[in-house]
Amino acid sequence: MFVTRFAPSPTGHLHLGHAYSALLAWNMAKEENGRFILRIEDIDFNRCTPENTDQIYEDLAWLGIEWETPVRIQSEHRQEYTEKADELRSRGLLYPCFCTRKDILREIEAAGGAPHGSDGPLYPGTCRRLSTDEQNSRIAAGEDYALRLDLSKSLKTIGHTLTWQDAINGTQQAKPELLGDAVIVRKDIGTSYHLAVVIDDGLQGITDIVRGVDLFDSTHLHCVLQALLGITPPTYHHHKLLTDDSGRRLAKRDNSITLKSLRETGKSANQIRQELGF
Ligand code: GLU
Repeated sequence: MFVTRFAPSPTGHLHLGHAYSALLAWNMAKEENGRFILRIEDIDFNRCTPENTDQIYEDLAWLGIEWETPVRIQSEHRQEYTEKADELRSRGLLYPCFCTRKDILREIEAAGGAPHGSDGPLYPGTCRRLSTDEQNSRIAAGEDYALRLDLSKSLKTIGHTLTWQDAINGTQQAKPELLGDAVIVRKDIGTSYHLAVVIDDGLQGITDIVRGVDLFDSTHLHCVLQALLGITPPTYHHHKLLTDDSGRRLAKRDNSITLKSLRETGKSANQIRQELGF
């Protein structure tokens, strides 16, 4: 059975771009006689608020979208993410990284540069080279650390090349080297978007992920995590991003195009659906 989801982060109000993504997933689920799941991705307690979550429910209901309850709220499942991270760590696939952003920049400068990935220069691997003794003594001294994926070790563990299915662009060869030794557990929030999203999509039996093409490169990493955690990979539908009149991507900071403000200025949900091509 076709199972899809919309997984917003309540870091602000939903805008037209989110409406497009949600309606696309919702319509696909209906066409396929499948299920539509709403998930709240609020692990980043520095940026997410319960008020924004309530606003998401209100906006989606106004658009005519219905979802299954109870809704999975990621902040209520931190322990599950920690357990999976512990499992990967005990298999030697994650290593503690004590570097600050400044340390990383300094290291890259000293090395005369670093290969570029999709998010800028790749992590130069400084903490991958620490001995276990050094790791332990820094942890014992109370230094903060993130956990990074040892990509090369992970790929060796998987032992075969990875591909993933993109419904729009066809079979994709995974290129996790675009993200390098990515942070899987952040220092500040105790998990990461990448880890939580992969675990939840697996747990909720998502067969088809509908999301913006801005997350296309993340999928290269997600399929590594799926392979390591024994999660069946879903099919991805990375859709175009909506832009404003000047061609700029819509962002949460542009208040004028939030669903709430459009509603308040008298737009109907039907008008929005039509304008978005539904
Ligand atoms: N929570 C993510 C966001 O709001 C989307 C996650 C996903 O669709 O994979 O950008």
